[in-house]
Amino acid sequence: MLLDEALDRIAEVPDFPEPGVLFRDLTPLLADPAAFAATVDALAAGLPEDTGLLAAVEARGFLLAAAIGYSRGIGVVPVRKPGKLPAVADRIEYELEYGSAVLELPAGLVAAGDRVTVVDDVLATGGTAAAAVGLLERAGARVDGVTVVLELAALGGRALLGSRPVRALRVL
Ligand code: IMP
Repeated sequence: MLLDEALDRIAEVPDFPEPGVLFRDLTPLLADPAAFAATVDALAAGLPEDTGLLAAVEARGFLLAAAIGYSRGIGVVPVRKPGKLPAVADRIEYELEYGSAVLELPAGLVAAGDRVTVVDDVLATGGTAAAAVGLLERAGARVDGVTVVLELAALGGRALLGSRPVRALRVL
């Protein structure tokens, strides 16, 4: 399947999770084996050659990073919401449009000097990806960039990521 056809499986859901928000739903893409394969192949092909680890952002980043990591023969570290990890190396609280959220990095899996790419489904305001990058860099890792299926450019997420490369299969 062509990548464009695969990405066309992404659905638009008006007024979710709250009125006025147009949610991009990747679940139809993930549920279609040809679309899933085309998407994972494209994400895997776009990874920098020397990335040695994927940091997968909970929860949809897990689905993508696991497949990319398997395909490229590299490992996956989950970056999780609070209370899920048995041992935490570090945590970052970051701002959401309403309120705040926390992400945690597991203990003992990311070492200084590791080359890591952050994987998630969607880059919106960039707060989530920037928090994941912050955790990795505080652990001494070198972040090779942020890999997503979809970037919602109007929300300006790249601005929070400085010079770190963003690789998106589709930019809206
Ligand atoms: P950000 O922090 O505003 O960039 O939001 C990105 C995070 O929220 C990612 O973990 C996404 O999974 C999720 N997200 C934000 N907007 C959407 C959307 O339209 N569809 C699916 N996930 C979204």
